Amino acid sequence: MKPPRTPPWLREVPPPASHRSALPIVDLPSPNQDERGCPVDMLILHYTGMQSAGAAIDRLRDTDAAVSSHYVVDEDGTVIRLVPEDRRAWHAGVSHWRGHTALNARSIGIEIVNPGHEFGYRDFPVLQLAAVCDLCLSILTRHDIPARNVVAHSDVAPDRKEDPGERFDWRALAENGVGLWPEDSPDIGTTGPIRDAVTLRPVRAALAEIGYRVAPEGGLDPALSTVLRAFQRHWRPEAITGQADDGTLVRLLGVRNLVRSG
Ligand SMILES: [Zn+2]
Repeated sequence: MKPPRTPPWLREVPPPASHRSALPIVDLPSPNQDERGCPVDMLILHYTGMQSAGAAIDRLRDTDAAVSSHYVVDEDGTVIRLVPEDRRAWHAGVSHWRGHTALNARSIGIEIVNPGHEFGYRDFPVLQLAAVCDLCLSILTRHDIPARNVVAHSDVAPDRKEDPGERFDWRALAENGVGLWPEDSPDIGTTGPIRDAVTLRPVRAALAEIGYRVAPEGGLDPALSTVLRAFQRHWRPEAITGQADDGTLVRLLGVRNLVRSG
């Protein structure tokens, strides 16, 4: 296995162990929390999808909205804690991963400030990505969360959600020890999309093995396209086609093999 490549945006960040004590965490407790009832084994990343950080934080602390997350990471890298990790925050909604539902009980949720696709989706600043990475690494020291269970909101609710979206640098996160990214898998383009049920059977099987909820049989129906788009937002951000094209299949098998190798 190759040594991990240090992405440019992390070069100036000290190792997490020495950095953690300096990680500025602002406590702004949310009333939208309750008891978990099971151990944590998932980490779910979101974007806030609102016009400002302040509006998002207000909503995540609003009793009427009845939503929350454990953390919010602002664009300048400030980390705000709304719910303690041993309590359940309400961020995933109707969701599914690896046969499990009701994912709030078993997950930690991080909301990353970004207006999102609705209000002007933009790049995540370097400082923000570094803070998210550092926060994730510290969470992973406290809970037994397998790399394959570090996912996007869009992975667990592909028919409703697009966050944190294709601008989020999952590859850099994985190269720093957070989540999965297949090595040696350059994008080979959008040629050769397959549509027939027989050829799509192994595609459906690979998506299901990774964790998505997908029917085992069928052609390129809208439900499969939706799941393929979710996969692409996470692992093939170069082209969100909703198609089982050549570039998507390479990454799909790459992630499937990582999942298999444990
Ligand atoms: Zn979300």
